[in-house]
Amino acid sequence: MQLTLWTYEGPPHIGAMRIATAMQGIHYVLHAPQGDTYADLLFTMIERRDRRPPVTYTTFQARDLGSDTATLFKNAVRDAYERFKPEAMIVGASCTAELIQDDPGGLAAALGLPIPVIALELPAYQRKENWGAAETFYHLVRAATNNVAVPARTGRPVSVNILGPAALGFRHRDDLIEVTDLLGKLGVAINVIAPLGARFADLARIPEADANIVLYPEIAGTAAAYLARKFSQKTIATVPIGLNATREFAAEIAALTHRPLPDDLESGARSAWYARSVDSTYLTGKRVFVFGDASHAIALARVAAREIGFTVVGLGSYSREFAREVKAAAALYDIEALISDDYLTIEAAIAAAQPELVLGTQMERHIAKRLGIPCAVISAPTHVQDFPARHSPFAGFEGANVLFDTLTHPLMMGLEEHLLGMFREDFEFNDQAAPSHLGAEAAAPTLTSPIAASIPAAPDAPAPVGWEASAEAELKKIPFFVRGKARKNTELFAAEHGVTLITIETIYDAKAHFSR
Ligand code: SF4
Repeated sequence: MQLTLWTYEGPPHIGAMRIATAMQGIHYVLHAPQGDTYADLLFTMIERRDRRPPVTYTTFQARDLGSDTATLFKNAVRDAYERFKPEAMIVGASCTAELIQDDPGGLAAALGLPIPVIALELPAYQRKENWGAAETFYHLVRAATNNVAVPARTGRPVSVNILGPAALGFRHRDDLIEVTDLLGKLGVAINVIAPLGARFADLARIPEADANIVLYPEIAGTAAAYLARKFSQKTIATVPIGLNATREFAAEIAALTHRPLPDDLESGARSAWYARSVDSTYLTGKRVFVFGDASHAIALARVAAREIGFTVVGLGSYSREFAREVKAAAALYDIEALISDDYLTIEAAIAAAQPELVLGTQMERHIAKRLGIPCAVISAPTHVQDFPARHSPFAGFEGANVLFDTLTHPLMMGLEEHLLGMFREDFEFNDQAAPSHLGAEAAAPTLTSPIAASIPAAPDAPAPVGWEASAEAELKKIPFFVRGKARKNTELFAAEHGVTLITIETIYDAKAHFSR
């Protein structure tokens, strides 16, 4: 039985909260029981926002269930309107409140408030957080643009909207700075950025732009598809994460503006040169497993394979809505995509692929730690350290620089460990040696003798397997992150072949056996 359940995404009303919190002048009234106010902490503690999200919870309790929860909801909407004076309101129910079927939309409409009130129907038991965010953003955009006519766009400078950055988004704050800067260099005007920082009235101006940049398809894809249908706006779907993707993104913008790319466009881009440098080439071919939301997983696999020279041995996503895109990306690396939100399945897939580096979410960081593999976090779900105080984008040319560091540093640290392992037998570096600056006070190394195997012997098992000192020394030359596996494989091989004392030859025989 599975006693704990970790999920990659929260319920869809958390997605709605991310949109409401990103915007200004919006208030969200959420029909929810007392405990659901935990969601505030995601924004104040994890993202370190300096204020609570603009959410009023009805916080009904068990004893309220026998009475009139509908009146409780109506009072909460009325009070929130009077207290916060929002420009627009969204209303809905959390997972638990969905079960009491109070119809938040109908109840709020009956109050006749003098502001737009948008009702959200977010089926908590079928859908998840990113879908909830996309649906909320789409409904807000649709409500704001419902009566807007298709504008004439000729005779005006070309402009674009940036859609997708939201609260609690992985590096959204910094990506936005990079993309804004890039668009400035490309000489294109930004019409509206949403939802981050936008007011409800700003959404009504979205149709004035020539194109919509969908920075995060998981959040802005639905709204952009609607805008393309209703207002014939172009969609720029290239997510500028990675050097090549940023170049493609810039070329798409240049095609829109009919302006040449500026000569100094890539003046701050260092990742391509760093990737070619001697210091990095020893990382070529490293086996990497990539998992995250669809956009980050696809982008990072491409960076790892095409820009740094790693071998992608696993690619997957928990974003079921984007399974088709992830499968197409995986096919580029001759692997099958893993579409799952069961972390145990993902852990098993990582263990089977035997990567030397994992690029994943906080969940994979835990998994990689258990397996002793270096890891970098490249996607939500995140932890507090994924909202760094410093500027740390993934998008644009500076983002490509950050990615180079993010992908190579964990391996370099692994190599450092490996070197320490290799020199462990040296008189200065052996396990018993005191720090070298203590000179003569260093303890004398002890001689090694056959060492007991790490596999405990079963009662009816053959004689236990031991290690000759020279074999143990040879094992230490293997990088620490695969050493455990090499030890286990060698012992298995020895046990199966009746070898009771492992020698250097046994290690290489086992290696040949398992790489067949
Ligand atoms: S019922 Fe829904 S909102 Fe409440 S704690 Fe569970 S997942 Fe979160």
